[in-house]
Amino acid sequence: MISACPTPTSPTSTRGDTRSAVGAPRRRLGLLAAAAVLAAPLTAFVAPAAADPVPGGPWNCGEAVPLSGLLSHEELQQRLTSLAERRDALDLDVVGESLDGRPLYSAVVGDGPRTLAILTQQHGDEPMGTEAAVAFLREISADTPQAAALREAVTVVVVPRINPDGFERYTDEDFRDGIDPRRNSADLDLNRLWGPDADPDPATAPEVAAVEAVLAEHQPDLVVDYHHQVTYRTDEGDMATMSVLWSTHPDVDPAVAADGRRAAAVVGAALERDGHATVTRYPESDTSTTARNGLGLDGYPALLIEQRGQQEAGQKNRGALVREALTSMQGITEALADGSFDATDPAAADALPARGERVDGCE
Ligand SMILES: [Zn+2]
Repeated sequence: MISACPTPTSPTSTRGDTRSAVGAPRRRLGLLAAAAVLAAPLTAFVAPAAADPVPGGPWNCGEAVPLSGLLSHEELQQRLTSLAERRDALDLDVVGESLDGRPLYSAVVGDGPRTLAILTQQHGDEPMGTEAAVAFLREISADTPQAAALREAVTVVVVPRINPDGFERYTDEDFRDGIDPRRNSADLDLNRLWGPDADPDPATAPEVAAVEAVLAEHQPDLVVDYHHQVTYRTDEGDMATMSVLWSTHPDVDPAVAADGRRAAAVVGAALERDGHATVTRYPESDTSTTARNGLGLDGYPALLIEQRGQQEAGQKNRGALVREALTSMQGITEALADGSFDATDPAAADALPARGERVDGCE
């Protein structure tokens, strides 16, 4: 029997985005209804001792996974501010603040005609997209001919760590009781507050309002939204690096959905070029208020990215997880810049294998 990684020890970290992405009602989701959803117990921070790791890792079985290596929100601010001071190509703005008063940022690099928006960590306990976005900003704002060429072709708009209050609860022992770190401080799942069917109240979801204003200003050609699921296999049994999905709601303009499918195909190809990485297709749902569907209904092509290994976001896997997300950001930007994005057949996304079984525990 193949032994597998430890199951995360709480419902928060075991469910990733799976449970919430299926079965939600196709109706207007009011804030009261959203707030009425019971919060699950909080994430445990230390994986139990367990059996041998699965081949094809790096999976972190049997190790404590300290989260102290992640950028605190203060460190994120320092990194972004430092970059903006050193790099003329990067414009940093405070675009709002979270319910608990933590600043929300946009970082804009380039002035090209194609605009890519990158959103990270609207679920506070899904951190690696933020780490990767900082690395990508450093790379694309650099004083190199390659970066300059990308900036002439593409405008990159990053809104990192949309839910800093949830992240604080995720990483601070003092916050282990209370609201699920996935949700904001009004106990709302921000990823049910997007698009024309949602009606987020800025008083309880200022994070969504801030992002919507950034998108309205920049009118991106594509929005990529970074999350974590737990670790899954491909349908052939290998470890899946990430799962992706475009807007699948039936009312999304087909041309808008097609660009999301192009993005999925481009990410699949970029990760494949990177080596042994495998991208799978995330299960579909018609929930209209996720970013993937809600932003699509608003007319923005959108792609959901669900990285593997939410429960393994500690030191040992940090490098691999950041590299995988960074590769997806690079691949999409380069494809927008060189025209290959538009030349991509949306049907290529259909060739991505379906997500396989969940890895649910060392055995
Ligand atoms: Zn998520």
